[in-house]
Amino acid sequence: MSMAQVCCDSAAAAVAAAVAGPEAEARARARAERRRRAGEAGRWKHAAAAAAVAPGSAEAVAATRKRRVDAGELLVARKHGAASVAGRRREMEDAVSVREAFVAPSAAVDEGRPAVGSGRCDFYGVFDGHGCSHVAEACRDRMHDLLAEELSTGGDGAALPREPAAWTEAMERCFARMDAEVASAGGRAAATASASCRCDAHKRDHVGSTAVVAVVEERRVVVAHCGDSRAVLCRGGGGAAPVPLSSDHKPDRPDEQERIESAGGRVIFWEGARVLGVLAMSRAIGDGYLKPYVSSVPEVTVTDLVEDDECLILASDGLWDVVSNEAACEVARACLRRGREKWCAEAAALLTKLALARRSADNVSVVVVDLRRKNH
Ligand SMILES: [Zn+2]
Repeated sequence: MSMAQVCCDSAAAAVAAAVAGPEAEARARARAERRRRAGEAGRWKHAAAAAAVAPGSAEAVAATRKRRVDAGELLVARKHGAASVAGRRREMEDAVSVREAFVAPSAAVDEGRPAVGSGRCDFYGVFDGHGCSHVAEACRDRMHDLLAEELSTGGDGAALPREPAAWTEAMERCFARMDAEVASAGGRAAATASASCRCDAHKRDHVGSTAVVAVVEERRVVVAHCGDSRAVLCRGGGGAAPVPLSSDHKPDRPDEQERIESAGGRVIFWEGARVLGVLAMSRAIGDGYLKPYVSSVPEVTVTDLVEDDECLILASDGLWDVVSNEAACEVARACLRRGREKWCAEAAALLTKLALARRSADNVSVVVVDLRRKNH
């Protein structure tokens, strides 16, 4: 087992503590402290630069707002944790993206009215690559920027859609652009941008990735997905069942099989249901050689949060193959009940370890996001 990638300082400290003991934890904490201090120094530099522009000008207003956002005056960070392990696989083809406040929140209005959840808006994504890692890495590096562009007002800020249908359209445009980017020049641009790509030139479009993306507003969660990476909402309140926010795109899901066959494709059973006997999922980013049977159009859910909602779990099928939605929520809840500051990071690390202990054959990536109203 190798710890291939861990996102966020708190997760790094928690995983280090769990895997290598107190010395590694102390080192991880020292690193996090150095990074925090460097961030503060950067903020002061930014403030000095802002003072150089004319007071009251549009630039000055924008710079002041950015400085206050950066300094945490306008937003309180939402707790989250992420962990990603290669597991029994030699290659690491998963990628994770955490982008807090990925669009400017104070400009979050729609047609002049304050948007629903016009405060905080964070982006989280899990991408499980197949064939190579370069499509998953491109999704990690680009998807939040493409979505921010789709939400952009053209000025300084973004309009968060009020209506679920508008969110669906924005996500569909974002996924279509992401798919076009990885397909451009036969996949050459995405392949050369990746440090770990190991593709033969003629196989670059035989590569793809799942994408499960969550945008967490103040009291709403928008999830868009292609493939079999999954989003689950853990709801508290006395044994409430987890709420699935995505439905895996398997080729033998009846509506997916019908879509594939009406496009002229076939679902062939070869170690499970596969599109043309090749790919074990019916939607993905990339996989140009299986279009149109494999679609990059996402399914989108827009869910209002309720008082008892506790956390959101995004994970690749390396977790879901061996851990049920219910068990995953139980683990997250147990970490929450321990009451420690970094419970999201502990939950993400623990879930990856549970998947490995249950002998998951795949890469395992998990993101846990705190959804409680009072605690972020
Ligand atoms: Zn590649």
